[in-house]
Amino acid sequence: MSEGQTLLERSIRTIPDHPKPGILFRDITTLLGDPAAFSAAVDALVAPHAASASRPTPAPTTVAKVAGIEARGFILGGAVAHRLGAGFVPVRKRGKLPHEVVRIAYALEYGTDEIEVHRDAVNPGERVLLVDDLIATGGTAVAAVELLRRIGAEVVAACFVIDLPDLGGAAKLRAMGLPVHTLVAFPGH
Ligand code: AMP
Repeated sequence: MSEGQTLLERSIRTIPDHPKPGILFRDITTLLGDPAAFSAAVDALVAPHAASASRPTPAPTTVAKVAGIEARGFILGGAVAHRLGAGFVPVRKRGKLPHEVVRIAYALEYGTDEIEVHRDAVNPGERVLLVDDLIATGGTAVAAVELLRRIGAEVVAACFVIDLPDLGGAAKLRAMGLPVHTLVAFPGH
C-alpha cells in the first residue's frame, strides 16, 4: 500500500448505522477538510487522464468534460475538472436543473430514484469522465453513464475515491466496457 492510500484511508471517517442500521457510512467530509488528503485524492483521480513526463501522449487533456454526481461528486468532480482543464457537468437529483433535462430512473434497495442532466450539457461525441465519491452497488453510476450516453457523450472512464467491491458496482461498470479507477477499498457495505 502506498503512503497516499494510507493517508486517504485514515482521512475517511466511518459512521456505523448511518443513515440506517447495518450501514457503515463512509464519510468523506473529513478527507475534504484535510488539505493533504483532499489534494492527494484529486491528484490520484486526475493522474490516469493527465499527461505526464513518463506518458507524454495522448494530449494534455484526454477528457473534454467531467460529470459529477450530486452532491459529493460535485466537490471532487469540480476539482478534477479544473485540474484537467475540462468543463464540468452536474448530474442532479430530479427537479433541480433549470433548463431542458433528460431524466433516468434507477432502482434503489427499496423503490427508485431519478437523476437528470441538461440535454445540452455535452456536444455530440464529447469525451466525459464520470466522478463520484463512492461506488457501492453501481446503480447510481450505471444510470449516470446511461444518461450521459443518451445526450451524446462518449463516457471514457469513471472514478471514485472509495470502492465497496463486495457490492459489485465497479465490476458492473467494467462489464459495460468502462475503465474504472478507485483509490481506497473497504470490505462489506
Ligand atoms: P450505489 O448506487 O449503490 O453505487 O451507491 C452510490 C451512491 O450512494 C454514492 O453517491 C454514495 O455517495 C452513496 N453511498 C452508498 N453507500 C454508501 C456508504 N456506505 N457510505 C457513504 N455513501 C454511500
